[in-house]
Amino acid sequence: MVGPLETLIKELKKLPGVGEKTATRFAFYILNANNDEIHDLIQAISDVKERLRLCSICFNLTDHDLCHICSDPRRDTSRICVVETPVDLIAVEKSGHFKGLYHVLHGLLSPLDGILPEDIRVAELAERVARNKAHEVILALNPTVEGEATASYIRDRLSGQEVTVSRIAYGIPIGGSLEYADPLTLSRALDNRSQF
Ligand SMILES: [Zn+2]
Repeated sequence: MVGPLETLIKELKKLPGVGEKTATRFAFYILNANNDEIHDLIQAISDVKERLRLCSICFNLTDHDLCHICSDPRRDTSRICVVETPVDLIAVEKSGHFKGLYHVLHGLLSPLDGILPEDIRVAELAERVARNKAHEVILALNPTVEGEATASYIRDRLSGQEVTVSRIAYGIPIGGSLEYADPLTLSRALDNRSQF
């Protein structure tokens, strides 16, 4: 028979990046923690599942109808940065450089995997751009086959609207070395050069 500790380790191992060793360490931490600590952990997990929902404008995660970005009057509503996931939104937001709004697609197009435009929040983006008369849509999607396909699809879908569609530049990472950059990254960096 499997005991509670083994069951806990088995469940913890389902977390991304957590193997047997880490799961065992987590399980013993939980076993030895005081009741308040465990209560806080259980509460945090349950709040994430029960209280978080999607912002009705941008589909970011929020525990209100509108997320903290959409409800911030200081944000520039004429620019919408399109990202794949809420994690990508956090990454762009951390740069502190973008003051506009976001739109979270919750996926990328991948016809081979059966992920079509109706499976991601792209129709909502087109409606939003038309409704709010946004000036610029900035595509911040990963430079993968799916990211490229999604970027092209969005550009075509918005082509009838008076909005500039741009995409973030791809190139050499800060602190990186030209010598080790792959040819595709280097050619993209050359294409995306800016006046200095
Ligand atoms: Zn929002």
